[in-house]
Amino acid sequence: MVTKSKNDSSLPHQAFIALGSNLGRRKKNITAALGALESTREIEIGAISPLYETDAEGGPEGQPAFINGVVSVRTSLSPERLLSVCQRIESLLGRTRDIQWGPRTIDLDLLAFDDEIASEPELTLPHPMMHERGFVMKPLADIAPNWVHPILQQTAASLLAGLGERDWIHESDE
Ligand code: AMP
Repeated sequence: MVTKSKNDSSLPHQAFIALGSNLGRRKKNITAALGALESTREIEIGAISPLYETDAEGGPEGQPAFINGVVSVRTSLSPERLLSVCQRIESLLGRTRDIQWGPRTIDLDLLAFDDEIASEPELTLPHPMMHERGFVMKPLADIAPNWVHPILQQTAASLLAGLGERDWIHESDE
């Protein structure tokens, strides 16, 4: 694999990563994850969405609200390597995986990688539930309204519109 230099805008792949936190200093956790992505040599950060605060869906009752956002990156990594960088950042920032859908310091999901389609349990692309989640589609549509879901063949803006109005989405003022 040829590793491109960081400032080479020809890093060949485009990906979108969703970030979420509902434990500790949530905004700080997201900023730290963005910093860790940025300091990875094979990753260049593009647009960063506004952050939104949303009530937790599922998981233990009464868990704190999430702050969510989406970042676009360019990378020379493979999807598998990019996911493992995300998982390393989750570990570095102290995420434990005790409770499924439970509170987490930081959650990084690989939403999409170019037009790739994958259906392995370890890596499903695009992320299988992204188009049903307002807290993912809203920030994605903010930064990439014309991105086309490679399976559903709809843009981020139209997938978001299909979810209808959600009053529970509001920009975080933490
Ligand atoms: P979660 O606990 O929600 O972060 O889920 C992590 C698990 O989902 C890991 O075992 C990943 O290998 C798997 N996974 C499958 N597809 C993806 C994806 N597109 N992004 C992040 N994790 C994924």
